[in-house]
Parts: sequence; structure tokens; C-alpha cells
Amino acid sequence: MTDERVYNFSAGPSVLPEAVLRRAQAEMMNYRGSGMSVMEMSHRSPAFSEIFGETKQKFRTLMQVPESHEILFLQGGATLQFAAIPMNLMEGGTADYAVTGNFSGKAAKEAEKYGRVHIACSTAESGHHRIPKQEELALDPEAKYFYYCSNNTIYGTEWQYVPETPAPLVCDMSSDILSRPVDVKRYGLIYAGAQKNMAPAGLTVVIVDRSLAGRELPFTPQIMSYRTMIENDSLLNTPPCWCIYMLGVVLDWLKEQGGVEGMEQLKRARAKLLYDCLEESRLFRLHAEKDSRSDMNVTFRTGDTALDAEFVAFAAARGLVNLKGHKLTGGMRASIYNAMPMEGVEALVKTIKEFEREHV
Ligand SMILES: *Cc1c(COP(=O)(O)O)cnc(C)c1O
Repeated sequence: MTDERVYNFSAGPSVLPEAVLRRAQAEMMNYRGSGMSVMEMSHRSPAFSEIFGETKQKFRTLMQVPESHEILFLQGGATLQFAAIPMNLMEGGTADYAVTGNFSGKAAKEAEKYGRVHIACSTAESGHHRIPKQEELALDPEAKYFYYCSNNTIYGTEWQYVPETPAPLVCDMSSDILSRPVDVKRYGLIYAGAQKNMAPAGLTVVIVDRSLAGRELPFTPQIMSYRTMIENDSLLNTPPCWCIYMLGVVLDWLKEQGGVEGMEQLKRARAKLLYDCLEESRLFRLHAEKDSRSDMNVTFRTGDTALDAEFVAFAAARGLVNLKGHKLTGGMRASIYNAMPMEGVEALVKTIKEFEREHV
């Protein structure tokens, strides 16, 4: 129990900027003279329509989404997209999947229900500690799309390049969206669950090239059809209103911090501080290979499970929480998303050094 805010290194749902929470708090009971909270508004009301339109526009501007691409605010998490993508884009044919972690593996498995999955690369045997190079990708000339996950949240690896493929790129950016500039027009589809780097859980942002919509398999549920969702501007049914509002508040904050360029500078600085400290360490080892490291999720361990647990407890006692790694990797994971202040990483580095002095 604590009366103070902690530094929360959770992988998701994860930390939100304090300024965002304060603004949401201030607007909670009576949103701009409406006499009600955004949570209580009809999704067809003028007040909410304005929030919806503005949030979409802010997103388009910040991420420089070209007019050729539609922005959808959907539900069902990233996991629903594992099925929606093959249903909408595979046309019962073949798709390339790059399996570099848990979630791309799950996406590939789900896609097998709707067509033929061709594994373009897999790092499963080596414990997903690296990202393959372009030359290592085996591309199927018949592929309807090439699927990859730009940041592997569990293993702490991140693609440092955009793959070159004849088929349209489809990318799961759940854990690194809005952390750097992205050339959206190179992609057929980008999607992200909001709860890592954007907003509370319950919203999935999908950015889709309009020319790819309308190819869904006949049995595709309406709610999963990109064509239907584009035609209804995501409002086929009640959208996750509160999450969309919160995304808008986060985007205002992000703009004040210098947009995606500002976020990129910050993320490099945060990651450098932590990786430098862990590289020098005589106690901790890093999971990911140097050229494949993620700036968002830093995975490390001592090699001794009991000592790892001791470190997690040691850090928690100092207000640094949720550092336990995912069960697939063990060890520790520090998720340092957009909203993690530099002070949080400085505190973590100090704690790592203190623990090391006591144990080496
Ligand atoms: C968390 C995560 C998912 C799963 O997200 P849900 O919204 O829980 O379905 C998928 N992909 C990546 C990269 C993630 O980080």
C-alpha cells in the first residue's frame, strides 16, 4: 500500500502520463458544460461526435496518416485482429508470417483457419532473442500480405527496419505505436491495442489502406469487416467511447511533448540509459541481441530465479513495480513506454546499481 504514485513498469495495461490522468479527472464529472461525464454520453450525441472526430484528426496529423488510409477505432483487442486480418485480406489464399515472438506466433496460428500460412521466418528455436535480417526472409510470391510484429513485448526485441516485400505489409504495432515516425503509406494495414502505448484497454486502432477493404470472406462478421467499419466510420455499434476520449487526451499530451519525433528522442534516451547500465552490469544479462533490442520493453535476468525474484521485490520496496518478466522468458522486464518519465528509468538504474553492490 502506498499514498504516492509508483513508477509502473507494467507491459500493459500500462502507465499513462500524469497530466493526462489529471485532465481526465478534472473533466470527469462535467465534460465542458455538458453536465455529464463522457462515460455517460450517447455515442451519437454532438458532444461525443466532436470528441470522436477530433481524436481521429489528431491521430491522422500526429502519425501523418495519408488520405489513402482509413483510421478505425475498434474493440476486441489486438487478438481479434489476429482473425480479422486473414478474414479480410487473405481471400482464402496464402500469407507470409514473420514469427519473432509470442503474438506473431498466435496470429499465424489463427490465420491457418482462413487460408495457407507461409512462415517467412521464425526465431522460435533460438528463444526469440533476435530479429531476422531482410535476406533471411523467405517470401512467397503468392502471398496476399506480409505479417509482422514491430515490437515483441514479451521478448524485448524490435524490428529496426521496415521489411521490403512485394505483398502489402501488415504490422502489429501494439507496443511501439506513436513512439517514432512511421511511413504509413508503406503499409497495407497497421494495428495496435491501445493499452500499451496509447490509452486504457478496450480500444484497438486500425489504420487500413482503403483499397484493401472489400475482400472479406463471406462469413466475416459485420463487426470484423473493414469494409463495413469504414462505411460506418467505426460506429456500426457503440464504440469504446471513454477510451477514444482518453486517446484524444493522450494525443494532446503527445503533441505538447514534440509529437512522434519527441517521443523517439525520449525513447532512445530512456533505453540508452537502461541498456548502458545493464551492459556494464556484472550481475544482470540482457535477453535480446544488441542489434535487435527493443526501446520499449527491456528484458534482463541474473540467471538465478531466486535472485531475480529478490530483485523484483527489492525494486518494489522502492516504488518501482511490475518488473517481473513474462512467464515465457522469466527474469525481469522493464516496459518503458511513451508515458514513462525519464526519472522512472533513472530510479531503476539507481536501484539496479544498489542491488548489484549488495550482491556481487
Ligand atoms: C499485448 C499485445 C497483444 C495482445 O493484445 P490484446 O489487446 O490483449 O489482444 C498483441 N500484440 C502485441 C505486440 C502486444 O503487445
